Amino acid sequence: MDDSVIDTLVNLQEIDRRNRERTLKIEELQKTAADLEAERTAKLVEVDSIQADADSTGIQRRELEAILQDEENRLKDRRMRLTRIRNDKELEAAQREIDGLKELSSRHEEELLTILEQGESVDGGLKAIQEEHQAILDRGQAHATETKGQVEALGKEIEAEQAERERIAGQLKPNIRKRYETVFSNRRGLAVVEMIRDICKGCNMAVPPQMANEIRKGQTLHACPSCQRILFWRIDSDEASVG
Ligand SMILES: [Zn+2]
Repeated sequence: MDDSVIDTLVNLQEIDRRNRERTLKIEELQKTAADLEAERTAKLVEVDSIQADADSTGIQRRELEAILQDEENRLKDRRMRLTRIRNDKELEAAQREIDGLKELSSRHEEELLTILEQGESVDGGLKAIQEEHQAILDRGQAHATETKGQVEALGKEIEAEQAERERIAGQLKPNIRKRYETVFSNRRGLAVVEMIRDICKGCNMAVPPQMANEIRKGQTLHACPSCQRILFWRIDSDEASVG
C-alpha cells in the first residue's frame, strides 16, 4: 500500500464530510416542514370536530325554532276559536288546551335559550381553533418560502462536488472504497482518522503495538479494533504531540 491511498481517502472524506453536512441541513429543514405539517393536520382534526359540534347545535336550534313557530301558530288558532265557543264545558277544555300549549312553548323557549348559549360558546371555540390552524398554516408557508432557496442552493453545492468525488473515489480499489463508505456511514461521517502516538483519534483508544508498527510502516490498511475506522499515521503529528 502506498501513501497515495491514504491521501485519496482523506481527500474523499473531506468532500464527503462537506456534503454530509449539507445533507443533514436539508434533512433538518425538511423535518421542520414535516413537523409543522403534522401539527397543522392535528389541528385540522380539532377544527373538524368542533365544526361538527357547531353544525349539530345549529340543527337543534333550527328544529326548536320550527317547533316554537308551530306552537305559536296553534296558540293563535286556539285563541281565535275560543271567541266562537259558547258552551262552558267546551270553553273550559279549550282554555286547558291553551294553557297546556303555553306551558309546552315556554319549556321549548328555555331549551332554545340553552341551545343558543351553547351555540355561542361552540362558535367562539371554533373561531379560536380556526385561527390557530391558520397560524400554523402561515408558519408552514413562511418556512417553505424561507427555506426553498436554501435547500436548492445546498442541493446544487452537493451536485457540484459530485463529479470530483466520483473521480477521487474511482482511484480506490473497489474493496477499499466499499470499506471506506461503510465505515463513513456507520461512523457518522468519520471513516479515516489519524493515529497519534498509538492512539486512534477517532475513538481515543490505544492501537495494539504490533498493529501500530504496521500502520507506521504504511504497508497495509488497518482498521482501529475499537471503532473500525481506517487509521493512518504521519510522523509530523507524532512529533508535534510530544510534550
Ligand atoms: Zn478507534
